[in-house]
Amino acid sequence: MQDLGGIFMRVYINDRWVDGDDVRVSATDRGFMYGEGVYESLRTYTKRIFAPRQHYERLKRSAEIMRLPFHMSFEKFRNILYEGINDLEQDCTIRIMLTAGDGEKPNLFVYIMELQSPNEDLYTYGVNVGISRYRKIPRISLPPILKTNSQAHLRLARQEKEEFYEIIFLNHEGFVAEGSMSNVFLVENGTVVTPSLETGILDGITRNVVMELAKSLGIVLEEKTIDVDELFNCSEIFLTRTSAEIIPVKRIENRVLFENEPGGITSLLMENFRPHIFNEQSLW
Ligand code: PLP
Repeated sequence: MQDLGGIFMRVYINDRWVDGDDVRVSATDRGFMYGEGVYESLRTYTKRIFAPRQHYERLKRSAEIMRLPFHMSFEKFRNILYEGINDLEQDCTIRIMLTAGDGEKPNLFVYIMELQSPNEDLYTYGVNVGISRYRKIPRISLPPILKTNSQAHLRLARQEKEEFYEIIFLNHEGFVAEGSMSNVFLVENGTVVTPSLETGILDGITRNVVMELAKSLGIVLEEKTIDVDELFNCSEIFLTRTSAEIIPVKRIENRVLFENEPGGITSLLMENFRPHIFNEQSLW
């Protein structure tokens, strides 16, 4: 196992696992020069990879949109990932990146890293979230389903709101879209609401799982366009993403949502998240 600064543990490039000290990439890879690449981030739960099929399908879709050849079967994809994590005791983040390479032949990278999930305290005390003055790139310019390496707007937004754990972007029409790395949910009068895909957001895998979970618990759920005011009038807000599951929001800008513990619906969903995913065959 390679220890690359305590974060990277192992890297696969194109067709083999490479020694961490020996990683060489072409200086002319268009992924690095122009951000022409797509990626996915997965996580493991005690040596089991969460939602590999869903991440594979999304990677394939991103690759198709960017016209990057990606002909690997799901079985091969899954085998490579399991090869990478098999002998590791701890949970990992697996980042897969397909770059445009020299323009003719793409490069595939698989990074195995220590799991980058939030500190346990954040689930109890919640996180602070800001609203970015930068807007999401309109879907007519960049399909939101594309998970691309070109993320300059996220860096700008994070620099502006450094004190916040996450930043919520509005779309070009001013409706609530999503965070820089997560999907957003609100609770309004007992109903869970989340921006619809038409708002121009990523079709998050955890978002879909949480919507299924909410339905199975009999919670009313609605996908819709959400006005900024709703962030300041709703009773609960939470974020979802693969590596962090469900994270309660304590404060949005200057508005505090809870003092002691996350709201009832957020807590109910958090408690039931793992039992639900471990029971759902299609996620493994
Ligand atoms: N929205 C954005 C912009 C993201 O980058 C991510 C995760 O990387 C998500 C939402 C959450 O998606 P998922 O639940 O598939 O991890």
